[in-house]
Amino acid sequence: MTSIRSIKGFKDILPGEAALWQSIEKTATEVLGAFGFREIRLPILEKTELFARSIGEATDIVEKEMYTFTDRSGDLLTLRPEATAAVVRAYLQHKIYAQDPVQKYYTIGPMFRRERPQKGRYRQFYQINAEIFGVGSPYADVQLIVMLVDLLERLGVTDAQPHVNSLGCPACRPDFRRALLDFLAAREERLCADCLRRRETNPLRILDCKVPGCREATRDAPALSRFLCAECRSHFDILQGALDALGIAYLIDNRLVRGLDYYSRTTFEIQTSALGAQSAVAGGGRYDGLMKTLGGPDIPATGFAIGFDRLAEIVAAGKGTETPGPLVFIAALGAEAQARAFPWLAALNRSGIWADMLFEDKSLKSQMKRAGKLGARKVLIIGENELAANTGQLRDMTTREQVPVSLDRAVEELRRHLGADG
Ligand code: AMP
Repeated sequence: MTSIRSIKGFKDILPGEAALWQSIEKTATEVLGAFGFREIRLPILEKTELFARSIGEATDIVEKEMYTFTDRSGDLLTLRPEATAAVVRAYLQHKIYAQDPVQKYYTIGPMFRRERPQKGRYRQFYQINAEIFGVGSPYADVQLIVMLVDLLERLGVTDAQPHVNSLGCPACRPDFRRALLDFLAAREERLCADCLRRRETNPLRILDCKVPGCREATRDAPALSRFLCAECRSHFDILQGALDALGIAYLIDNRLVRGLDYYSRTTFEIQTSALGAQSAVAGGGRYDGLMKTLGGPDIPATGFAIGFDRLAEIVAAGKGTETPGPLVFIAALGAEAQARAFPWLAALNRSGIWADMLFEDKSLKSQMKRAGKLGARKVLIIGENELAANTGQLRDMTTREQVPVSLDRAVEELRRHLGADG
């Protein structure tokens, strides 16, 4: 029989890597907490309509990447391809805005997109999302960027560069759209099939197309920044001024339109050279119209998503993988020693100390080998002689020094020896 393998584009995060993920998550939640964000946990399955209406019918995600199915009651459901729509849904559904429209949330979890799998691109991937609701000010956008920069710095990512752009608003974007379509009219034959279609559905996305012919054709395309209305212009100027005042170096990228329809005004991405082709580790922007699109009041909002998988790859590349081991391994030789030691193991584990032992009667040599393989810091040896003397030997695996440990007070003594080592 052939063995069953995981689905293409879906990967396992094995314990060595998972330990790194835990430490990244810990740093991230500390940073998010310091900036005033609180956690919200949401379902990974939502009604398809939520994503169709928010992300946009004519986007790659909704057109061809969603995992959608009809459940037994006939409802059309989708595994979430992103988190923002669901966070907005929850905020509206629970009428949180009625008590206090200003909310700062974060959520961490898996997203699903049926993209072509490659390095840094998976079909189940993880994101850390942060959203600020109820604040239209550009300072909210800047706060998100500062928070990203701070988090990446703390994780040792030194070459993170924010790219920023403004997409304007429903008042000024149509002018740009028209100018762009006029510009493209003379270059139709150079555009890929997707971009020819995007002219009808979402022409701004053509600026973001990665096909070399399309990039070439749009090289001298009009810049969106020239078309911003006075309000959008001032919003973007304040954003840049605030980044300057903080000494954060950024790049204005006129092509940064992002793949979702709901953005307005600010968009941003954090890029790093460590990632190769998939250079964006995080992306986000303002989506002032989304609440209304989803049937809620007119409340501004802004947010970002960090690609957890990509972040973990960068952080892992920056440091050697160290596998932590138990603080102590109990090498109990023979049934009597095992029976005596087992309660100590449980007591140590329950007091929060990583201790381990072999539940089989193996020779001292093979137990020492096992302790070494686990990376144990110390080994408590209890054989016949030790039982007779009521004193075990605690061996330091690095220095090979041994100290006696009274078996009547084994747990207390072990705790003292392990604690003394920090
Ligand atoms: P998006 O939701 O498309 O704005 O993406 C935000 C971030 O999520 C990107 O900058 C990536 O780091 C990450 N990301 C998006 N799609 C994938 C994917 N298929 N696999 C891994 N990471 C992804």
